[in-house]
Amino acid sequence: MSIQPVMNTYSRLSVAFDHGEGCWLFDTDGNKYLDALSGIAVCGLGHAHPAVTTAISEQASQLIHTSNLYTIPNQELLAERLTKISGMDNVFFGNSGAEANEAAIKLARRYGHAKGIDKPTTIVMEGSFHGRTMATLSATGNRSAQAGFEPLVSGFVRAPYNDVAAVKNIIANNADVVAILVEPIQGEGGVIIPADDYLNQLRELCDANDMLLMLDEVQTGNGRTGSYFAYQQNNILPDVVTTAKGLGNGVPIGACLARGKATEVLVPGTHGSTYGGNPLCCAAALAVVDTITNEKLDQRAGKLGDMIADGFRAQLGDASYVKEIRNKGLMIAIELSEAGTELAVLSKVKGVLLNVTGGGKVVRMLPPLVMSDTEAELLVNTVSRIIKVYMADE
Ligand SMILES: *Cc1c(COP(=O)(O)O)cnc(C)c1O
Repeated sequence: MSIQPVMNTYSRLSVAFDHGEGCWLFDTDGNKYLDALSGIAVCGLGHAHPAVTTAISEQASQLIHTSNLYTIPNQELLAERLTKISGMDNVFFGNSGAEANEAAIKLARRYGHAKGIDKPTTIVMEGSFHGRTMATLSATGNRSAQAGFEPLVSGFVRAPYNDVAAVKNIIANNADVVAILVEPIQGEGGVIIPADDYLNQLRELCDANDMLLMLDEVQTGNGRTGSYFAYQQNNILPDVVTTAKGLGNGVPIGACLARGKATEVLVPGTHGSTYGGNPLCCAAALAVVDTITNEKLDQRAGKLGDMIADGFRAQLGDASYVKEIRNKGLMIAIELSEAGTELAVLSKVKGVLLNVTGGGKVVRMLPPLVMSDTEAELLVNTVSRIIKVYMADE
């Protein structure tokens, strides 16, 4: 077989889309699909949203890029918006979730060195996902993703997710710990929702031990879980929070927000990015942030997600092959008792886009925040039916 010019790093479904509108994608043969994945939690405003399209078009006709050697007004505007929404103090912009987390990891190391700790260590969780660069891969709690890439970056120590006692134990035995990096909900890990007060307890531990609480909201941020950032439902503030995915609605941008003692750790010469926060991506993100806040799409996500999960419970809740149906806003999972990897393919054939994670047992949906009630009903009915037929229940 001949070598394909695109390197073979993904297992892709055999469909290509050529346009989209709202929650719908259209393939090159003219078939339409209800998009319940949003390009993996990216297109929260759906496809071809007029506010984003206009912002990108207008900015592209003016100026796309200048570099961070110069002042970028759009970057300053976006940083103002994000700090106001989040309660954080300042922002570093990169181009992806992994880069946002790289910034956080580097920040924690410098924070440690400033305290006289030679080998600053960050606590990370089992089952976590933080990206594919060497440092973020090393922080990621998935052995199969790391296999073959050793030697990994040192300076991480791992605790089970949603286990405060384990974190306490590590802190008690390791004087080098300077930070905790954790997802408020594990997305790639299979939509794992921790105890309601998990983040509050980690906040207390960080306060008591002068450590940075660093939240990876690359997936949970930008309205997806029912508030702009997931931590806002815990009434706490992190020291560092990273986000990306939903921030640009598909235009690549990532952000690392810092607060208080974390704000002046990265200074000129310590970190940077050529494209990071350029005029074009910041114009897109400004349109996204303003649309989410003006239209209260985060609140909409909270209500709609509960409605969809209740719908699935009504149709599948009693099925023997369904272990659990759970959601936080529009992060929705149907956990099966056996593997259902083929469900992503079957759903595509039936005109719905979703994906299967968590070792093949978790059917995951991350619909656009702009999904209508009617589309949500269609989603529930179609996916319930597909799962029932697949599991040979009817
Ligand atoms: C997707 C994701 C990342 C990585 O983002 P990229 O933009 O792919 O680099 C990091 N953390 C979490 C929680 C994610 O879901």
